Amino acid sequence: MQTPAFLDRDRPDVPDLVVPGGITPFFLQGRPVRGRLIRLGVLADVLLTRHDHPAPVTRLAGKALTVVAALASALKFQGSFSLQIKGDGPVPLLVADCTDTGALRFYARTDEDALNALLAETPNPTDRDLLGNGYLALTVDQGPDTDRHQGIVDIAGDDLAAMASHYFATSEQHACWIYLSCKMTDAGWRAGGLVLERIAGEGGSHVVGDEDGDASWETATILATTLTSRELLDDSLPPADLLYRLFHEEDLQIGHPRALAYGCRCSRARLADVLQGFPDDDLDHMAQDDGQIVMTCEFCNIDFRFPRKDISSHAG
Ligand SMILES: [Zn+2]
Repeated sequence: MQTPAFLDRDRPDVPDLVVPGGITPFFLQGRPVRGRLIRLGVLADVLLTRHDHPAPVTRLAGKALTVVAALASALKFQGSFSLQIKGDGPVPLLVADCTDTGALRFYARTDEDALNALLAETPNPTDRDLLGNGYLALTVDQGPDTDRHQGIVDIAGDDLAAMASHYFATSEQHACWIYLSCKMTDAGWRAGGLVLERIAGEGGSHVVGDEDGDASWETATILATTLTSRELLDDSLPPADLLYRLFHEEDLQIGHPRALAYGCRCSRARLADVLQGFPDDDLDHMAQDDGQIVMTCEFCNIDFRFPRKDISSHAG
C-alpha cells in the first residue's frame, strides 16, 4: 500500500494545486459528437514555470499537457495516460502524463546547441521543427496487474494538434478534431484545448454512409474552428459560456466538470529506493565532494540530497 501523497512527509515543497473545472465534457444531443473543453488555468503557469525552457518549448509542453488531460479524462478505470514523443529535433524527448484523477506533469529534454541554432534561424518554430522526425507513443497504464495499452504513430503534421489527430485516426479509428493553444497571457502562462470526437451512432454502430451523421460532424467541426485562442485561455469566460457560444444551435449538453491538479508522484523515499538499486561503486561515483548524492526529479525540477553514508546498496 503506497502512502497517499497528502500524507507523504517526504514530498517536496511543490504546490498542491487543484483546478476544479479543468475539464468540461459535453455532447451534442442526437448527433454523433462528443467533446471536452480543457483549461489548465493557473496550473499551466505553475507546471510550466518550474522549467526554464525558451517560449516555443514551453508552448509545446503546455499543449502536450492539454492533450494528456483530455485523454485521461476519458479513462473509465484508475490509471494514467502518458504521451511520449521521441524525435531527432532540438527537443528529442517530451513526456507528459495525467492520471484518472487529473494529476498532471511533464518533462522535456532539450539539445541546447540545436535549439539555439533553430531559434536563431526561426524565432517561432513549429512543433515539428522542435521535435523533428520520430514517433509519438500514447500509453494507458491501468495498474501493475493489467496490460499496458500502447499506440505508436510517426510524427506527422506541423503541430501537436495535427499529430494527436493523426494518432486518433490511425489507432482509434474514429474521427477526432483537436485544437490546442498555450500562450503567455496577462495572468501568466495558460494552456487549453478543445477536442471533438465522432462517436458511434445510436445502437453503438457507426453506419457507413450515414449522411445525417456526416453533416452533423461537419457542422460541429466548422463551429469549433471559430474558437479563438483568446477565448480559450480567458479565465474570466466560464467554460459553459464558451461552449454555448460555439454550439448553442446544436443542442449542447454539458456534463460534470472534472478537476486537474499538480501531479508529480516523486518522493524522497522513492528516489532513495532507486539509489539503493545501484552498486556501491556507482554510488561512490555519484557522490559529490561534500559527500552528497543529488537526485533531481525531472518533472518538478527539484533536487533531493542524500548523504552517501546513509545509502546502503541493495545491489548484489
Ligand atoms: Zn517530482
